[in-house]
Order: sequence, then structure tokens, then C-alpha cells
Amino acid sequence: MVSLSPYTTFKVGGPVDLFFEPENIWELARVCTFLEEEGIPKFLLGGGSNLLVRDGGVRGACLSLRKLRGFEVLGDELWVEAGLSLKSLLDLCVQYGLSGLEFLSGVPATVGGAVAMNAGAFGFEIKDFLTQVTLLGQGHFVTKARDALAFSYRGLGLPEGAVVVAARFKLVRRTPQEVREKISFYLKERRRRQPLSFPSAGCVFKNPGQVAAGYLIEAAGLKGFSRGGAQISRKHANFIINRGKARADDILFLVDLVKEEVFRQFGLELEEEIKIVGEA
Ligand SMILES: Cc1cc2nc3c(=O)[nH]c(=O)nc-3n(C[C@H](O)[C@H](O)[C@H](O)COP(=O)(O)OP(=O)(O)OC[C@H]3O[C@@H](n4cnc5c(N)ncnc54)[C@H](O)[C@@H]3O)c2cc1C
Repeated sequence: MVSLSPYTTFKVGGPVDLFFEPENIWELARVCTFLEEEGIPKFLLGGGSNLLVRDGGVRGACLSLRKLRGFEVLGDELWVEAGLSLKSLLDLCVQYGLSGLEFLSGVPATVGGAVAMNAGAFGFEIKDFLTQVTLLGQGHFVTKARDALAFSYRGLGLPEGAVVVAARFKLVRRTPQEVREKISFYLKERRRRQPLSFPSAGCVFKNPGQVAAGYLIEAAGLKGFSRGGAQISRKHANFIINRGKARADDILFLVDLVKEEVFRQFGLELEEEIKIVGEA
């Protein structure tokens, strides 16, 4: 059993029965086939930055893709494997003078997780810069054009069990200095708006329509509300932070409280953006 807490940015959660970290895509394919043949459920782990693992942990297998970090620069296109962190992706963008993805700076995710979640910020989404995504499913690799995929707000309708293995981005040529400056701008904005000195999973809820979930949570009077070691951030109400000793249960209590209060006061149902896995 491996504790998943250190693998998530919330830093909470119990252990998983089996943990695999394939060295390359061929090993990944072999592990997936083995799990399918044995009927062992799997869940995919990228940067763990959108995950809340319950305190009882996860039955089955966790597949961490962090070792899949290959890349290739093809003119103004960049092909990268799913386990590459967005930080490393942006380092490549600076090195090769490729612009477009700077809005993702400060998001502690992997490419695979960001594609699977269609990560977005500052009015952009990762899908806007994708040309192709390579998926692994039922033992086969298939590369699909961006427009053949069902991206939505913070989602990508993947077939059951499919793994994002690699992605190809079309970017714009700029000088490394220009790319670096844009990254600094977005990082500064993020630090100004978000409580980055505590563990969290970013925004907990999706925005319902045009209203920001954070605005509703603040208007409901819930900013700063805490339970155990978890707190609804005073800086950004859509963040729940771990003040040091939170358990997943504390965070789940606050998630339910927010949903109940926002519904009671405004008649709006908030939907979680974070993925909640495991058992209590
Ligand atoms: C400080 C902070 C700031 C954040 N800011 C933003 C933001 O501005 N915008 C935003 O959209 N999000 C933001 N997030 C949330 C999070 O970073 C994104 O949702 C990100 O896309 C998750 O990527 P990950 O690699 O960490 O995925 P994980 O959290 O590991 O997984 C998320 C989901 O994707 C699935 N998954 C992971 N990898 C793959 C794969 N290769 N193939 C198929 N499925 C996979 C997992 O099973 C899970 O269901 C923030 C989080 C933090 C902590």
C-alpha cells in the first residue's frame, strides 16, 4: 500500500492498494492490459492537483504518469508526453521561444491531467492550443485531432478507462524574453488572487454559468469558515486550504456545507471541479 497524500497538492488522503509508475508508454500499455485482464480498477494520477483522496484510500490501482516526460519540438509545434509538468512545458516554451500557454503558469499539473480536465485560466483553455491528443485504451494507441475530441468546461469526455498519453500543441514564435515576461505577468496575477502558501487543489467548484462560484461562496458568508485543519480561504473563497493537519473528511465537510448554503441562499447548485476518489 502506498499513501497518496504526498502525491496530491491537498496533502490529504489514505493509501492505494497498488501503485504503478511506468517508465515509458510501452510499460504503461503493459500495466493497463494487466489491470484490465485481472479486473483491477485503476485511476490515473497526474500532478494530483485536482484530486481529493478520501481518508480510507483507494481500492485498486493508481497509475502515476509522472515518468512519461518525453518531448519533441517540431517548428512552432510542441509534442509532449502526458507526465511532463506544466512547469517543464513552460520552461521548454521559454527555451524554444514558443508562446500561447503562458496562462497556465503556476498550475501545478501535468500535461495529461491538464488535457483531461481542459485546464483553463484568464479566459483561455488548454484545448485552444492543442492540435492532437494521443490516447491509450483497450491496449491500443490512437491519435485524435483536437476537433474529434469532446472538450467541455473543465472536462474532456474520454472513453471509460482511456489514458491521455501525449499531446501536440500549436504555438506562436516569440522571443524567449517575451515568453518569460508573459509567464511572470500571469504568475504575479495568480499570487495576487490565490492563497498559494497553503496546500489546496485550486478552485473546488465550477462556476455555475456566468457567476463565479467564489463570489457566491463569499456572498453566503462562508469565507474563513473552518473545520479541523481545513478552511475556506479568506483570500479566494473557491479555494479550500489545508492549514497543516486537515483530513479529507474536514475538506468534504466544507464542500457539503458550501453546496448546502449556496443552494439555500441563492437556489444554485454548485458542482465540484475537483475529483473525489476513494472510500471514507
Ligand atoms: C494552486 C492551484 C492552482 C490551480 N489553478 C488552476 C487553473 O488556473 N485552472 C485550472 O483549470 N485548474 C487549476 N488547478 C487545478 C488543477 O491543477 C487542474 O485541474 C489540472 O488540470 C489537474 O492536472 P493534474 O495533472 O494535477 O491531474 P490530477 O489532479 O492528477 O488528475 C485530475 C483528473 O484527471 C485524470 N487524469 C490525470 N492524468 C490523466 C491522463 N494522463 N489521462 C487521463 N486522465 C488523467 C485523473 O484521473 C483525475 O480524474 C489548480 C490547482 C492548484 C493546486
